[in-house]
Amino acid sequence: MAIKIKCPSCESEGSISLLNQEFSGPYRCWKCRSLYTINIHEGAVVSIEPLSEEALEKLKELEELKKKFRRQ
Ligand SMILES: [Zn+2]
Repeated sequence: MAIKIKCPSCESEGSISLLNQEFSGPYRCWKCRSLYTINIHEGAVVSIEPLSEEALEKLKELEELKKKFRRQ
């Protein structure tokens, strides 16, 4: 399913595709390129907070670490 997300900065509406109705992670506005952390519960956006590029890099590093642990 696709969830609509309205960018708090430029008010453009974007969407993300989800396998289920739960999501928590980074979202980048397609128009103004602002980064956010979004939380979706039962198909509705419950929070959208600004995310810095540095914080996103840290998130990516964490994901990489998790992948490494899964392989072992
Ligand atoms: Zn935007």
